[in-house]
Amino acid sequence: MSTTYRLGVLEGDGIGPEIVPSAVEIATTAGQAAGVAVDWITLPLGAGAIDSHGTPVPDETRAALAELDGWFLGPHDSVSYPEPHRSALNPSGTLRKHFRLFANIRPAKSFPGARAVCENADLVIVRENTEGFYADRNTFAGTGEFMPTPDTAIAMGIITREATERVARVAFDLARSRRKKLTIVHKANVLKLTTGLFRTVCQEVAAEYPDVTVDDFHIDAMTVHLVRRAQDFDVIVTENMMGDILSDLAGEISGSLGTAPSINASADRAMAQASHGSAPDIAGRDIANPVAMILSGAMLFEWLAARHEDPALARTARIVEAGVAAAIAAGTSTRDLGGSATTTGFTAAVVEAIKAGA
Ligand code: ATP
Ligand code: MG
Repeated sequence: MSTTYRLGVLEGDGIGPEIVPSAVEIATTAGQAAGVAVDWITLPLGAGAIDSHGTPVPDETRAALAELDGWFLGPHDSVSYPEPHRSALNPSGTLRKHFRLFANIRPAKSFPGARAVCENADLVIVRENTEGFYADRNTFAGTGEFMPTPDTAIAMGIITREATERVARVAFDLARSRRKKLTIVHKANVLKLTTGLFRTVCQEVAAEYPDVTVDDFHIDAMTVHLVRRAQDFDVIVTENMMGDILSDLAGEISGSLGTAPSINASADRAMAQASHGSAPDIAGRDIANPVAMILSGAMLFEWLAARHEDPALARTARIVEAGVAAAIAAGTSTRDLGGSATTTGFTAAVVEAIKAGA
């Protein structure tokens, strides 16, 4: 008898209540085809939770998530929240911080039909998610930014050996399972101490992975290489802010915002989250592209497959990916990809493709 996995569902704001149920339906269908049973546990988070619980991140949601090793997270539009919630860290940042999801793993693979700038990119950015120059995520600095006078603002960046080592290992393990190439991105000629330490520690970890070829670039040079020859890169590891910027660039080069998946992971938990935001401009119209959320779900199943050593979970991920590819190849896509399908129409096409054995 196979295990029943328990996964959280946090629909989020804007287009979240459209794309998250789509991803859940497709994962359920693929799970049935692969022999994986999932109990989905819907939990309040975001704007809806402000109405029902008086806070965007209810304690009961955190407590329930602590019992799970994975969940699907919709996007959040925290700038639309009433104060004090607007100024607080947004719900996804709060969960990243609370569960110390230190690695943001974001693939950029050219998507058929997505009118990509680079037609044959297949790379993954592993972004350190807890340190660097992003104040709200700094482990030690608290606020990270301050103003000693009304006319001077100072930001602190933090890099530690511990956080760099753990994210480097995630990146090297990933490279080992792929084309065995890893690129370290930093700015060690200017931010010598912080990003210099990041580079040094990554290079030290490299000694444990003699089968992986390693190179490194400054972030500015890296943007040029990515635009010119994205297809040459396999796994890229970098600190928080550089990873944020670089992954948007890589996502756009390889496809569109609506197709770019990601997960945020620690050693024992992972959160599937589309790379895009809540798209309030198109919310509630059944036109959002659910592909990024669907493929984020597939990444979560892939991650769970390694954790639980259950090949049926990896099969589920493959079936989801094949279903999406088959639906698009058959000419069904949403407006952002040049098609005319609705969110629900596209979802139905993927479900059909999976049932037909895509
Ligand atoms: P955030 O700060 O939450 O990341 P953002 O300013 O980056 O938000 P998004 O919400 O990602 O913005 O939206 C950017 C643009 O891309 C919008 O025009 C939006 O409609 C479009 N967009 C984002 N996601 C999708 C999607 N899944 N399908 C179709 N269009 C999308
Ligand atoms: Mg954004």
